[in-house]
Amino acid sequence: FQPNSPAARDVAYFLHPYTNAKAHEEQGPMIIERGQGVYVYDDAGKAYIEAMAGLWCASLGFDEKRLVKAATAQLEKLPYYHTFAHKAHLPGIDLAEKLIQLAPVPMSKVFFCSSGSEANDTVIKLVWYYNNARGRHAKKKFISRIKGYHGVTVASASLTGTPVNHPGFDLPLAGFKHTSNPHYYRFGQEGESEEDFATRMANDLEQMILEEGPETVAAFIAEPIQGAGGVIVPPATYFEKIQAVLKKYDVLMVADEVICGFGRTGNFWGSQTVGIKPDILSCAKALSSSYLPISAVMMTDEVYQPIAQASADLGVLGHGYTYSAHPVCAAVALETLKIYEERDIVGHVQAVAPRFLERLHALGAHPLVGETRGRGLMGALEIVADKATKAPFDPKAGAGALAYKAAAEHGLIVRSIGDTIAFTPPLIINESQIDEMFDKMHKALDDALAALKK
Ligand code: PLP
Repeated sequence: FQPNSPAARDVAYFLHPYTNAKAHEEQGPMIIERGQGVYVYDDAGKAYIEAMAGLWCASLGFDEKRLVKAATAQLEKLPYYHTFAHKAHLPGIDLAEKLIQLAPVPMSKVFFCSSGSEANDTVIKLVWYYNNARGRHAKKKFISRIKGYHGVTVASASLTGTPVNHPGFDLPLAGFKHTSNPHYYRFGQEGESEEDFATRMANDLEQMILEEGPETVAAFIAEPIQGAGGVIVPPATYFEKIQAVLKKYDVLMVADEVICGFGRTGNFWGSQTVGIKPDILSCAKALSSSYLPISAVMMTDEVYQPIAQASADLGVLGHGYTYSAHPVCAAVALETLKIYEERDIVGHVQAVAPRFLERLHALGAHPLVGETRGRGLMGALEIVADKATKAPFDPKAGAGALAYKAAAEHGLIVRSIGDTIAFTPPLIINESQIDEMFDKMHKALDDALAALKK
């Protein structure tokens, strides 16, 4: 690296999240300098179509001026205030009211945090508090799913079931269990229908609840469509069967809408796409189109009432963040929700999703691609060594990484999750940009195939 260049200084000082630190010392950073619409530009001026909306989140693309204005206006009026001890401000109040109006089932209260991880950490604490309030002191365990992604704080990382989040960290904490992953292509058995597979998944969950003891299991948390686990679309009847089991054992259903919320799957909430009726819902990311960090936990009145009573009895709800409902973040989130409504962003997703899914599924004909899957503007392809047997490549071949690198060379930023390549572009993407995205991906797969044959 050039001495004192941004790359040299990055390598010298910056420990990057989710990055191989040793490899980074050799490789250095990709420095993104600016954004426009669905494109971002690196420090050499090269354009990339951002097929992941950053981290599944910049739903309105990279230059929505109205959000800049909303932030600036709020910064000038009241740049910060807190919401502890009865304090409030209008952006927080308006945003709470708006979210309750938008909830997928009748809900009554919203708690604000700054990130998806904090939101899910808050979910855990509120569920514990709720069960303590009801005298159910043993009912504290959480069940999530293998490859589910719920964050990285000590507790939310315990919910997370992806491979890199536990080793080395002494996680998961006790009381956090992971049940089967509903990926039919990978885990469906010979001759098993999707329906039977869904039944087996629900049976696995029931078995786990019985083994743990239903009196110890508090909640089940799931993403409507798993994101970081590889964009796993569950079988049609999966959540119906899962929720029947939860009901039977009085276990709360928590929907993690951090990726799926706000139109991503073709409905306002992912819960509506897959038939979840949540008791608690966490959301973040596209709540503010990710321009500023804000997240929320929404709950039904049945969950809220015991929490309210306990907090009255104890004198205070002993949980909250300096930045809970930060007014500038809340103002940007409100403006984001206003834009979604005015521009009918869900209608737009429904209009362009057929093109997105058609082009995605067409890549299924590529010799490297074993499965394509998706809903709305959320999709993935899985690279395999043998399409007939579904056998993966030896991880040492780095097939997904090769495809990711080739895509970047063609001016396309995707996400490689092992050998799965994910696509969640900004929701404002149009059909010709969708074509451009998949044309580039096709070339990248050809390049990866050539490299793998060497
Ligand atoms: N939940 C889901 C479904 C996510 O995808 C993520 C992040 O990608 C999180 C929670 C954690 O959010 P954050 O990275 O904002 O802490």
